[in-house]
Amino acid sequence: MEFSKPFIIAGPCAVESEEQLMTTAKAVCDAGASALRGGAFKPRTNPQSFQGLGEEGLKLLAKAKKLTGLPIVTEVLDTRDVTLIAEYADIIQIGSRSTQNYPLLKEVAKTKKPIILKRGMAMTVEEWLLAAQYILDAGHDQILLCERGIRTFETATRHTLDLNVVPLLKERTKFTVIVDPSHGTGKASLVPPMAKAALACGADGLMIEVHPNPAKALSDGQQSLDIPTFEKLMKEIQKTS
Ligand code: PEP
Ligand code: MN
Repeated sequence: MEFSKPFIIAGPCAVESEEQLMTTAKAVCDAGASALRGGAFKPRTNPQSFQGLGEEGLKLLAKAKKLTGLPIVTEVLDTRDVTLIAEYADIIQIGSRSTQNYPLLKEVAKTKKPIILKRGMAMTVEEWLLAAQYILDAGHDQILLCERGIRTFETATRHTLDLNVVPLLKERTKFTVIVDPSHGTGKASLVPPMAKAALACGADGLMIEVHPNPAKALSDGQQSLDIPTFEKLMKEIQKTS
């Protein structure tokens, strides 16, 4: 698979309903996004929180792909779901909580689908690259490394977006490097400036959470852009790239 530069992945944190997903898919497509994201299996910190629609969510993603033609990015949490998710996903996301789940990495590598390997929230670059090595050793090399913020002493933002790694990884590796300012900041107002900063320091792409009504989102509403704000960001990005 070829990744246009900048490769912009946008969509809701979680697939919630047909209306929510189709509205978002159409809007991000019209705004110029390169791929649609949406979680069907969600890794939630609180077991009481919405866990995703599961297979029904995957079916809605397939419908959104038919509607827009956008490739689909969705997360896998469990080795038992890899085959099912590979039937629907064009790119498989390994979330920050799973990047050191080595059996999962090996299983996903077998699908030969491009893999987004998110940085674990307490992972050094060395550990991240060793996780990527598990995938390379399984004979697969379509890996997109995604910086999504790390946990530091700072609590004013959800995580600390470590943009240092962008030029560092570009210097040291051949991987495609993308940045997720949504999880990296946890705050919608900070997403556009940090998205632009990521591209300015050499990121090959972005992952951005977008929701038609962030206040009502079932997950990550505070960090999701509404549609007009995403459209504005895309125009600004297109002007400079
Ligand atoms: C997500 O992309 O919605 C997600 C859960 O991301 P992360 O693994 O970076 O927390
Ligand atoms: Mn999220």
